[in-house]
Amino acid sequence: MSRIHALDALVVNKIAAGEVIERPASVVKELLENSIDALATRVDVEIGDGGSELIRVADDGEGIHPEDLGLAVTSHATSKITGADDLFRVRTMGFRGEALASIAAVSRLRLRSRRVDAVDGYEIAVDGGQAGAVQLCGCPVGTVVEVRNLLYNTPVRRKFLRAVATEFGHISEQFTRVALANPTLTTSLKHNQRSVYELPPTGQVLDRLKLFFGSDLTDKLIWVESQTSDARVWGYVAHPSESRSTRKGQYLFLNGRWIQDRSLQHALGEAYRGLLMTGRYPVVFLFLELAPELVDVNVHPTKAEVRFRDTQPLYRQLLAAIRTRFLSANLESTISVPKAAAWRFENFSPDRSGLEGPAQRDAQLELAEWARNQLNNWQAPSPGSQEQSPQSSWPAPAAGLGGAYANPLAAHDRLPLAPGETAFGGSSGVAMSGLPDSDAAASPPLSAGTNGVDGFDLGALPRQIMQVHDCYIVFETSDGITVIDQHALHERVMYEHLRHRVDQGAVESQRMLVPQTLEFGDREAATLLEHADVLAQIGYRIEEFGGATLLLTAYPAILAQADHGRILRDAAESLASSGQTPSRRDILDSLLHLMSCKAAVKAGQRLKPEEMESLLAQRHLIDDAHHCPHGRPTALVLTRAELDRQFGRLG
Ligand code: ADP
Ligand code: MG
Repeated sequence: MSRIHALDALVVNKIAAGEVIERPASVVKELLENSIDALATRVDVEIGDGGSELIRVADDGEGIHPEDLGLAVTSHATSKITGADDLFRVRTMGFRGEALASIAAVSRLRLRSRRVDAVDGYEIAVDGGQAGAVQLCGCPVGTVVEVRNLLYNTPVRRKFLRAVATEFGHISEQFTRVALANPTLTTSLKHNQRSVYELPPTGQVLDRLKLFFGSDLTDKLIWVESQTSDARVWGYVAHPSESRSTRKGQYLFLNGRWIQDRSLQHALGEAYRGLLMTGRYPVVFLFLELAPELVDVNVHPTKAEVRFRDTQPLYRQLLAAIRTRFLSANLESTISVPKAAAWRFENFSPDRSGLEGPAQRDAQLELAEWARNQLNNWQAPSPGSQEQSPQSSWPAPAAGLGGAYANPLAAHDRLPLAPGETAFGGSSGVAMSGLPDSDAAASPPLSAGTNGVDGFDLGALPRQIMQVHDCYIVFETSDGITVIDQHALHERVMYEHLRHRVDQGAVESQRMLVPQTLEFGDREAATLLEHADVLAQIGYRIEEFGGATLLLTAYPAILAQADHGRILRDAAESLASSGQTPSRRDILDSLLHLMSCKAAVKAGQRLKPEEMESLLAQRHLIDDAHHCPHGRPTALVLTRAELDRQFGRLG
């Protein structure tokens, strides 16, 4: 090995360039950020051949002092910070003083600038890191950076550039991020002399979102906002039906900077838990504002990743903001039938606002809160306990709709109530009657429009409810027709119920008089034993019996007549496939999905009218009745407006 020597500045800059300049889009990002830092109000971007031939960014910002032009293209030279302490109060996009030097090291760069108060402009040219002399030039106030032949002197890296369209796609993405974070900026993007974006300034991010993503998406956005003493979170999250197969639709901005953060992405996943199918990601545009001292942006050369002093509060704030909003938003999926070609009715605006006035929202929030408390406070009598009324046919879990789930309430309903006691029994008409399969007389008749506790209208039951194809429930609503997927909705109801019981540590477990032996594969048995404690939380108690045989001593009461061997085998499979170290919460969640699916009424099962009514009534008692735990919708709405439109009936 040869002796050690210091690398010369040109080589150092090329190495640094490798970190910052991944592709043409990185140059565009750095130049745009410099313009923002220079307080530009207008920035125009011109690209030639996906950026490999030309990138020109012109702004009307403060400009650079002629004597600083040489420093601007020197590495570790910046006007934005002075000392190390400043690193923790960075309010600008840049601060590393590295971008221009890095870009100049691997391209032919020309920097022209004129200060606001100066008569003349000056320019400097740098060719592969070799800077020329500063020269007088005519130019408007502001700065123009022109980058030609990017990576011309690093041929290997230049070969890695992709097709022009691909590279331009990345550039367009960077442009989008900056344009979203700075809606008041007038900005444009051109590719090969063709205008791609021409954006006027606006006070509304939504205007920009419409331009970039179309109103089909923006119509489905839900506003969220939350403020604590440390942070403000605001922006839009999309209706779950707008999910994507990658995280590309997730735009998080921290103090004006687009960032990627695993913890916050996880919070988004949690916020949409149960609303999206696995493998789908929500679309969000969220802006976080945080005191600069609470975050370290100096962890990544491109500053796309940051380190929060304390992630937890922000994580919780984000999660709570979205969840709270979902409780009050209408997450129903609306059926939109393609307009018949011959019928074109101008001036028709379909009602798809989906978001109601504040009064209604408050009422819904309150109702959701109340419903949650009800769920939390349920004390289902255990099977066989003396609390049960003698004439009840319960327990016959899993026999009728909801099995043990619906029945505790039925039992409760029949208990003598103290005067003024409200609970569910407060009004006998509250539509939470249970459904003993064989004992119809036990439940009080359901009457339409019964008022719930404290005057809450628990969702007046529709006048006519119809089951079609033993699979869907159809009924009239005040503004249209709703179609319910009976399995999906019931699954959701079961899931919510089970989840609350698990949270309370109160899942009903039925001890077996004679424990059952179950045969598994070696791996399955090992997986199940490994997670025996979690299984116990949901009501399954298993013990080792020798070899791959397990002893089942108790099962969840809700799954009385189920095939436990099969359920546990499915559980083993889902546990084994849930990644290396799934969190306890994830494990529980997948088991709850499994259980609610098994316990729910199936498609193809004929329901009695009162069973349908009970199911519909339960819809109003859970947080999100609009999606099954796998994220499929439980209900579709065909609005009156849509029907009128289809039939050419204009009011
Ligand atoms: P940084 O942005 O991290 O300071 P850069 O290499 O990107 O480092 O830029 C170096 C310096 O050049 C900046 O600190 C700034 O003073 C000046 N500069 C760069 N671009 C512009 C611009 N568009 N307008 C005004 N000044 C600029
Ligand atoms: Mg910079």
